[in-house]
Amino acid sequence: MENCIFCKIASGEVESRIVYEDDNVLAFKDLNPQAPTHILIIPKKHIARLSESGEEDIKLLGEVQHAAAKIAKQLGLTDFRLVTNNGKGAGQTVDHIHYHLLSGRRMLWPPG
Ligand code: 5GP
Ligand code: ZN
Repeated sequence: MENCIFCKIASGEVESRIVYEDDNVLAFKDLNPQAPTHILIIPKKHIARLSESGEEDIKLLGEVQHAAAKIAKQLGLTDFRLVTNNGKGAGQTVDHIHYHLLSGRRMLWPPG
């Protein structure tokens, strides 16, 4: 999708610090980390947010979550948080679905 920063990262048009890639999924370091480990995991396909995913995306969303588990294992993370912000009111600022993988500090619950 034109003018989507994460589509541009997925295509290589915009640089990022990639930590994982397969045919359908990309993971890269967040530009403005909120924890010692802060990785963004995206499907390469443009989906604006989780609530806009469809039945055709079920397998893909599973792959994204499985990528998170693989990355955590590879980095030796046992305790981590995986979160997606759906909509502006929930803190979403980039309209391409992404999961934040956060680790390396104590996480608050409930979140702010
Ligand atoms: P959201 O607020 O939508 O849940 O998360 C968007 C995240 O994307 C933020 O944590 C922000 O720091 C990160 N981000 C925004 N633009 C870029 C970029 O161009 N490169 C990288 N690596 N991260 C970005
Ligand atoms: Zn996109």
